Amino acid sequence: MPIKPKPFTLQCEDCNWKKTIAPRSDALMPGEWLVVCPRCGSTDLKMRVAGWLEAAVAEVLARRGR
Ligand SMILES: [Zn+2]
Repeated sequence: MPIKPKPFTLQCEDCNWKKTIAPRSDALMPGEWLVVCPRCGSTDLKMRVAGWLEAAVAEVLARRGR
């Protein structure tokens, strides 16, 4: 049985931009993963487990299909 991955948040160390990602499977789709901050172009992105509210919002957005 596949394990549902936990939502996580990417946050830029430089400008505080952040994005929460709720993967639908254990394989991330192209565009779901970022290595460069879209706001300032920094590659200093930190990954952490999303808070419950961030996770809930990301789940809703993912279900809508964006
Ligand atoms: Zn940034």
